[in-house]
Amino acid sequence: MKKVRVGTIWLDGCSGCHMSFLDMDERLVELSQYMDVVYSPYVDAKEIPSDIDLFIVEGALSTDHDIKIIKEIRKNSKLILALGDCAVTGNISAMKNLFGTEAVLEKGYFDLADINKGEYPSEVVPTLLDKVIPLNEAIDVDYFVPGCPTPADAIYEVIKAIIENREIKISDYTRFGK
Ligand code: SF4
Repeated sequence: MKKVRVGTIWLDGCSGCHMSFLDMDERLVELSQYMDVVYSPYVDAKEIPSDIDLFIVEGALSTDHDIKIIKEIRKNSKLILALGDCAVTGNISAMKNLFGTEAVLEKGYFDLADINKGEYPSEVVPTLLDKVIPLNEAIDVDYFVPGCPTPADAIYEVIKAIIENREIKISDYTRFGK
């Protein structure tokens, strides 16, 4: 049986959903019989490969760089799974939308700055979008798996179901905010 090629990435997230992935513990050994993780913070890959079967994405989209990356991921992946409430709805990452980009920059680089007050970064760091958005506002998403973080049991069950090409009722394993 050909192994499923899997990528994972965290964009505007806290990495908590990736920690939950690791919390699958010994089940990772079982899954490794059926899948190869070819791009991820867990592995040392610099370029996104062109032939991914399943890409698991944590985090919302909040910069021009996030948009560029997620479009590249969509182009190179058969299936995309939005992992966690930030990827599915924006969640905590989208709280910035209540105040707006200018107010957030002012708070971080003026009000709270000890040095270089008011010098907003314009080079090297990506430009913030006017609004933080969930994945499906930029690309088509195949699977939505909520949770904050998504429990390891839910990640395991949904990956197994995808590998075995069967349907799963994800609400049996996780829900928003769980
Ligand atoms: S859904 Fe929760 S745990 Fe996952 S990246 Fe967002 S804030 Fe972190």
